[in-house]
Amino acid sequence: MPAAQKVGIVGSGVGGLVLASLLADAGLDVEVLERTAGPSALGSGITLQGNALRIFRQLGVLPQILEKGYPFDTLGLRAPGPGAELLTVLDDVRVGGDDLPATLGIYRPELAAILTERARRAGAAIRYGTPFDSLQQDGELVTVALADGTRASYELLVGADGLNSTVRSAIGITDGPRGTGMGIWRAFVPRPAEVTRTDLYYGGPAYIAGYCPTGPETMYAYLVEDAHDRDPADGPRVMAKLAGAYGGPWQHIREHIDAGARVNYTHFTAHIVSGPWYRGRVVLLGDAAHSCPPTIAQGAAMAAEDAAVLAEEIIAAQGFEDSVLLRYWERREPRARTVVEASVQLGEWMLQHRQDADVPGLIHRVSETVRVPV
Ligand SMILES: Cc1cc2nc3c(=O)[nH]c(=O)nc-3n(C[C@H](O)[C@H](O)[C@H](O)COP(=O)(O)OP(=O)(O)OC[C@H]3O[C@@H](n4cnc5c(N)ncnc54)[C@H](O)[C@@H]3O)c2cc1C
Repeated sequence: MPAAQKVGIVGSGVGGLVLASLLADAGLDVEVLERTAGPSALGSGITLQGNALRIFRQLGVLPQILEKGYPFDTLGLRAPGPGAELLTVLDDVRVGGDDLPATLGIYRPELAAILTERARRAGAAIRYGTPFDSLQQDGELVTVALADGTRASYELLVGADGLNSTVRSAIGITDGPRGTGMGIWRAFVPRPAEVTRTDLYYGGPAYIAGYCPTGPETMYAYLVEDAHDRDPADGPRVMAKLAGAYGGPWQHIREHIDAGARVNYTHFTAHIVSGPWYRGRVVLLGDAAHSCPPTIAQGAAMAAEDAAVLAEEIIAAQGFEDSVLLRYWERREPRARTVVEASVQLGEWMLQHRQDADVPGLIHRVSETVRVPV
């Protein structure tokens, strides 16, 4: 008998949908509450590492992800400045195993569509336009109040509701995301034939300029700078100006920004909930529990891994006991902490303009951690 038969999941991001699929596969009654009106239809690209692909293979959706996305195994380093000289091409570590690509770029709405379809096929119900508002725990039930005034009850409630998790505050956890001092511009543009992997440019007017192919026709490009209060209306002008300092594909990227490509700006944040990620029968996963700046692109992988481990513990349990959620937290916390701390450290070294920082050593330590299957 699993830890719960009826499970509510707040949030249909990567973490929520992976969990919904695995629990519904095991015959549990799963309901996902999502505040948006439908699956996300807008967004930029996302870079997924092999350990995220390992979970997607477990779900059986790897073929669709490989078809829609763009896998690659190397990382280029280029010089800032108009010449964009290729300094070196490094082999990316295949952290998902030798039989999976090291890295894959994909358009976020494509990933959302694949995972949504998977969760529905497994039998999970997804209720869109249903913002979670508050909860009450009473014996064996968690009763949830929704913003439309209705209520729903579950034997277990999972807060997979991202960075600014309302479920997290509802259970009295006050740890939450703090700015790390950096901001990122992202633009989603057509892929020129020469972009076949991520290239990073360190230096110039941004700390990092980079791009990642997201499919045969598309890519996204990003520039990391000091955090500023930016007016979204001014975004294309500011990003195009920064882009103009870089060579190679950046001229193509800049032309598309000038021509109206979607541009957005986000501050980097980080946090990890101190102590257990649960209270009673309510538990957090993914960005609700921990978040990191995308300096090593592990956020989605961590959310997917949290979901896989939580599903395993719920399904293997003999009824509900605190130890089910404790085991989940004990299995996940050290790994998530390693990733959060390393991601923050990389950003700090950039902010401090440290030339002597052991970046390869740090990346190696994270790779060695996440290559071990969960
Ligand atoms: C600029 C930037 C770039 C990034 N790039 C990468 C990258 O390249 N690679 C990578 O692996 N990670 C990246 N990340 C991190 C990654 O996006 C997250 O770690 C990942 O999406 C977390 O997944 P999640 O399921 O925990 O939460 P989310 O994907 O945030 O999903 C949360 C869901 O909950 C819903 N929700 C929120 N509140 C409520 C409510 N009250 N009621 C109902 N529903 C609610 C939201 O609408 C959303 O659908 C990046 C993050 C940022 C900020």
